[in-house]
Amino acid sequence: MTMMRKVLLGLILLLLALAIIYKQFYYFAGSESLAEDEIRLTACGTGMPAPNPFQAGTCWLIETTDAGNFIFDLGTHSMGRIATLAIEPDKLDKVFLTHLHSDHWGDLPSLWIGGWVMGRSVPLHVYGPSGDGPGLGTDYAIEHFLEAYRWDRMSRNGILNPLPGEIIVHEFDHKIEGNVIYEQNGAKVLSFPAVHAIDGPVAYRFEYNGLSVVLTGDNFPNQFTLRNSQNADVVIHESFLNPEFMVDNFGLHPKVSLEVATEVHTSPQAFGMLMSELKPRRAVAFHFLNLPITTGAIKDGIRENYQGELDLADDMMMWNISKNNIRVRQVLWNPFNPPKPGQPLPPNKDMTIPMSERLIDSKLDVKEVEAKMKALFHQKYFDEHDSEKDDH
Ligand SMILES: [Zn+2]
Ligand SMILES: [Zn+2]
Repeated sequence: MTMMRKVLLGLILLLLALAIIYKQFYYFAGSESLAEDEIRLTACGTGMPAPNPFQAGTCWLIETTDAGNFIFDLGTHSMGRIATLAIEPDKLDKVFLTHLHSDHWGDLPSLWIGGWVMGRSVPLHVYGPSGDGPGLGTDYAIEHFLEAYRWDRMSRNGILNPLPGEIIVHEFDHKIEGNVIYEQNGAKVLSFPAVHAIDGPVAYRFEYNGLSVVLTGDNFPNQFTLRNSQNADVVIHESFLNPEFMVDNFGLHPKVSLEVATEVHTSPQAFGMLMSELKPRRAVAFHFLNLPITTGAIKDGIRENYQGELDLADDMMMWNISKNNIRVRQVLWNPFNPPKPGQPLPPNKDMTIPMSERLIDSKLDVKEVEAKMKALFHQKYFDEHDSEKDDH
């Protein structure tokens, strides 16, 4: 073997070894299909209400082989993260909201309209809790959300089929514990009360194929969580920033900082106490700024009371959960996995709202600059006698 061949062979072996090691830690979006006995959980948003370039608002995606996909919360900016996975729009047709803070449902327009323009053929289903007073529940929120987006909807009706532009709301009583709010194709979603801000927020327990994931939204440790998270494979719970960090970096008064970090939210120490009671196969902490300067104190705080398996969640962390194994990796955007459009229903042209003559007449004449591009397009896609030619 010549020297050159030896070097080449060495390089190939090195690349193969690197690829194998790499696959232990990273997942190229769209490169693996799901096994029948597993569920895939992806953190599509782990942050807080304040905008942050690295973390979207709360959002968790669960994928299954037989029961479809489930989105739990849809915080601001999270649809961009979900888009990394390039899932067909018909497979993103339901979302379960824990509560109506913007960092938990602020990206609903992107799922609703984004899926509609990408060819979703079915209405969107939104599951969410009732409120503890008039105008505080999910029904009211979505009714007025649709009103606020009236112009958006009406300007698209006629170009797009109106059916996928509808939202079907499934509001349920926030006070009921162990409430089965969804059960289809072997998947079950139960709700129970969460303790956060004012009455109304809920937490969810997702069950499929003998596996269970508890998603608590924003929550202070409480009896409902203890009772409804027993024997769960994965429990996801907030664990807030260290109060010292907020004094030093946000300039908060120590009194305010301590109140926010330990009374409004769950401290790492309290998170650790809860998980030491529940003993899930994997505890997942989220809802904090995930930076090298924050995670040390959060982890140390949790470890004061909990020694089990633990992940400090960051955006696009992914868990493959099966009975024998829980594999944790980071999702990488894959440029060879482009968005997958759906198969849109035909539009109803009668619903088109015509534009005024004034605006139509104001259009510049671009025929000449487009002539070459259009001629090539016609040559490629329509033959001379194609009767549909003029319709396109
Ligand atoms: Zn909240
Ligand atoms: Zn929140």
